[in-house]
Amino acid sequence: MKQMRVDDPGRPRTPRVHSPALRNGRVPRARVQLRLPSRLTRRGLSIGIDIGGTKVAAGVVDADGRILVEEIRATPGHDAREVEQVIVSLVRSLSSEHRILSVGIGAAGWMDRSGSTVLFSPHLAWRNEPVRANLEKLLHRRVSVTNDADAAAWAECRFGTGTGQSRLVCITLGTGIGGAIILDGRLERGNWGVAGEFGHQVIVPHGHRCECGNRGCWEQYASGNALGREARELARANSPVAQEWLRAVDGRAEDITGAVVTSLAREGDPASIQLIEDIGEWLGLGLANLAAALDPGMFVIGGGLSEAGELLLEPTRRAFGRNLTGRGFRPAAPIELAALGPKAGLIGAADIARFSWR
Ligand SMILES: [Zn+2]
Repeated sequence: MKQMRVDDPGRPRTPRVHSPALRNGRVPRARVQLRLPSRLTRRGLSIGIDIGGTKVAAGVVDADGRILVEEIRATPGHDAREVEQVIVSLVRSLSSEHRILSVGIGAAGWMDRSGSTVLFSPHLAWRNEPVRANLEKLLHRRVSVTNDADAAAWAECRFGTGTGQSRLVCITLGTGIGGAIILDGRLERGNWGVAGEFGHQVIVPHGHRCECGNRGCWEQYASGNALGREARELARANSPVAQEWLRAVDGRAEDITGAVVTSLAREGDPASIQLIEDIGEWLGLGLANLAAALDPGMFVIGGGLSEAGELLLEPTRRAFGRNLTGRGFRPAAPIELAALGPKAGLIGAADIARFSWR
């Protein structure tokens, strides 16, 4: 490990923005036991960088999961060097006023188990790219690279809903389904670093086609995309239940998305609530499969579709209880909403960088 400076590593000189990690402003202490590299690394500041399909969000994060300052840039096109340059420029800008010990990158895709190579990233040009070595050369700091769902799960485990849970499964419901496993207080990435692809468990043989090449994957039934597809189908068939969705998008059925349905459900539209209930049925069934395999102490549900709140969780819990292996003879793991919202990936990537050592 590189030598660290020992003078006052964690104190920001001029924090410009203060945003507490939790919505209620309370930041609980993590009770998960972790082997720590040193007191200095534990308390120091890290930069977390969440690379999405359209934007790159970066922030300076302290040891309690608070974002002190944040910057956002557009995701550059499909060129690995351009992405590196955006990362370098963000780190330079954010470290001008804070002493940064490490940088954590979170991105969609498969990383190798050690977090040094990105095997494949859908939004970026990274294919078997040694991202960590490239960036450490450019940044002269320790860098870790993590799958974005893993990063969000880590943040929820350390500072959010999963605080104190050492066996946790996090599900992110967005366009697809992201998954992550925390076992004994550590991220479990599997033998080759690609564990947690729960969205592609086949739940309906010969079902809807999935972009992964298979049919009937869970994310074709329980994601934001699935919700949008169901509503569009009804609208195109001129179903009377589609009235509110069409009104919300000026009559253009192709513009109905999962987000449109979720927001109408929260306003009380019965047809939207019904579709969310259907999604909950599929979600609960898939979670019961995961409980049979992993037996976690809690499921944490995040992502855009989780904004439906109890409208989604109530049918999910019902379906989970009905499908749980050993029901009646074992406790059912609680299914709860994530607490950190869309910043979870950034916070988690930064915290993993603080804890990663080799
Ligand atoms: Zn699939």
